[in-house]
Amino acid sequence: MKIMYNIKKIIKSSTIDYPGEICSILFIGNCNLNCKYCYNTDLKTLKSLNYYENILPELINRKSFINHIILSGGEPLYDSNILSLIDNLYKNYFNIGIHTNGTYPMHLLSAHNKIKFVGLDIKTSPDKYKQYFKDTFSRVYKSLQIIEKYKLNFEIRTTMDENYLELDDYIEIAKLLNEFKINNWTIKKQRYFKNDKLNIKNILDVEQTLNNNCTKYVKNIKIV
Ligand code: SF4
Repeated sequence: MKIMYNIKKIIKSSTIDYPGEICSILFIGNCNLNCKYCYNTDLKTLKSLNYYENILPELINRKSFINHIILSGGEPLYDSNILSLIDNLYKNYFNIGIHTNGTYPMHLLSAHNKIKFVGLDIKTSPDKYKQYFKDTFSRVYKSLQIIEKYKLNFEIRTTMDENYLELDDYIEIAKLLNEFKINNWTIKKQRYFKNDKLNIKNILDVEQTLNNNCTKYVKNIKIV
């Protein structure tokens, strides 16, 4: 019997979600977290698409142009059938990347040899995970260990959001990345604009903290 996958949406081509490659993005419904800035909450209510009838044939048709797939969400690794989906894409010779909040390290471990890229969100400083993200930091830490151990290609991203991050939290994240000898860190600020929460002073303060207090721990910090 064919397994139903919880794919709610597809973007057929993107140039910004898989570093250096054009990719298609499959959005998997549901997430274990509830970030205030989430722009994909609608996924929970959308009907699942039929992978075998509608998605896979389309991906295979365009494979000579696009053979990189990002699994995003929601939290793709939250889904119980995700390993089967990764397996199926892998058997069809796609290069698979994943965007994750890092709280499902066991699924990441199980799939690590089929995944070529991990975009990992670090949402706040280790201590604040207790307060805002269901105390999931130990699991995020395990995901970092898996990325390090298996030398996976990865990008660490943090969304600039004053609900979850004070200036000191950026420094604590930088120290964490330094522990793993991670030299690159992407800070995303565009959602400030999306949610009309533009606060220029806060952005300038964050930029100053990143430049003055974080680059000694993480060499390359990119603000996008
Ligand atoms: S982890 Fe990602 S998908 Fe889940 S609520 Fe937060 S922003 Fe949304």
